[in-house]
This record gives sequence, structure tokens and C-alpha cells, in this order.
Amino acid sequence: MAERTTVRRALAMAGLAPIDAQVLLAHVLARDRAWLVAHATDSLDGADVAAFERLARLRRDGEPVAYLTGRREFWGLDLAVDRSVLIPRPETETLVECALRKLPSESAVRVLDLGTGTGAIACAIARERPRATVVASDRSRTALEVARRNARDLRLDGVQFVEGDWLDAVENAAAFDVIASNPPYVAANDPHLAEGDVSREPVAALVAGSDGLAALRRIIAAAGAHLSPGGWLVVEHGHDQAAAVRGFLAGAGFAELESHRDLAGIPRVAAGRWP
Ligand code: GLN
Repeated sequence: MAERTTVRRALAMAGLAPIDAQVLLAHVLARDRAWLVAHATDSLDGADVAAFERLARLRRDGEPVAYLTGRREFWGLDLAVDRSVLIPRPETETLVECALRKLPSESAVRVLDLGTGTGAIACAIARERPRATVVASDRSRTALEVARRNARDLRLDGVQFVEGDWLDAVENAAAFDVIASNPPYVAANDPHLAEGDVSREPVAALVAGSDGLAALRRIIAAAGAHLSPGGWLVVEHGHDQAAAVRGFLAGAGFAELESHRDLAGIPRVAAGRWP
């Protein structure tokens, strides 16, 4: 008879970082990680062991955990993710915080999320500002399907989705109080693209020209025409791009420039006010 596979043994034999093994086994068993701790000596069904071993192998081969489970938490929201979208990152919560500070909670503000991907930013803002009109754009139709599904599953039915390239996706007359974006900002030759999770994520969500600034340049140049007077543009950028982004914002006519650090202490978000 084959040796009994307990929860503890399956986790220990997976050859993964403990957190990854726990998330994947919890996913297979449709339990949470606390359950695994409380049931460490329970025996597993053969089918569950096989399903877990399959996921563990894919993970060892480099597949991101979020693509294997199809889920990632962002701003306390449980989001669906797949290979057509960037996996939401904690640093993007810094951008959401900054955008929310520009949005009074009791008024019917208008917000645009450019390049929404999973819909993470749009859904987080819609959750925090129920009276806001939130529009989310993406050039990728498959990404928009993921974002629409997330908004629907989270009952954020007011979020509107539009397909298109950056500001081309919205009408000229649409005046927003806040335009937020986490655009691609990695340089095409950045060696970091070959490593870890990013090597499996959509290139279009990561890479923006030879210097990584192509999308930011374009968004910042076009955003003013779509902002209300006194409205804010809030963008995420790379660890070494704060000065460049500030220069683009000043050059495009933005005032009251701000820079915000992420939880790792890295300048990650820039904001500017349209006069
Ligand atoms: N923060 C991501 C990374 O460096 C990049 C995301 C982006 O380009 N918006 O892995």
C-alpha cells in the first residue's frame, strides 16, 4: 500500500516556498490556509494529491501562483486573473490611496482607469466611492472580459468599460476628476523581464518602448484634455522614473506635483493637478 499522504507531507514534499505550497494546496482542497494548519495530519485523497502535484510542478517550472489559482487579492478584493492580464501588485495600492485622497467621498465624481487589466484599480475605487462614475479602459479585449467579470462578481455594476488605446478610448468631451493609470513602464531590454512571475505576464502590460517611458509620456501628454479644471492625473511608474515622470507632468502643464513612495519605500506614484 502506498504511503499515506498527509497535508503536512504534501506541503513538505512540494519543493516550493511554504507560502506557495500552502496557497496551491488550499486551492485544490477549496479550503483556506488556516484549515491546512488545523488539519496538518489529515490524509489526502489520491485525486487531490495528484491535482496538487500537477500545480506544484507548474509552479516549480515558473508559472505564477496567481495564474495557477486564477485569483489574486487586491485592496481586500478577491479578483479573477488569467494570463491575459498583469497580476495586481501591492504597490498599486499606493496609487489607489493617492487617487482616493483626490476624490471627496460624498460627491458624484468621475474617474477613469487607463489600461485597467484585471480591473483592480477601477474596482477598488468603485468600492470606496459608491457615488463615483468609474470608467475603465483597455486595449486588450480579453483583459476587458476579465475586468468586466471582476466588476460583476464584486457587484460593482456601475463600472463602465471601454476598449481602446489610452485616452483614445474615451470621448474628447468626457471630463474626469481623476485619471489613474498603472501603465506598462519596463524598458524593453530590462533583464528583469526574463525572471520570475514577470516572465509569464503579458509583455503589453509590462514593456513600454526602449526606455520604459513610452506609455507614461503618451498618457501624460493627452490626459489634460480629458480632465476637469482642478482634476488630477495619478500614475504608477518604475523605481527610477520619478524624475522623468515629474518632468513630463510639468512639461504638459500639470501643477502641484506629488510623488508617493510604495510600502518598500520606493517612489512609485506621481500625481499632478490640471489647472
Ligand atoms: N511593477 C511591475 C514590475 O516591475 C511592472 C508593472 C508595470 O509595468 N506597470 O514587475
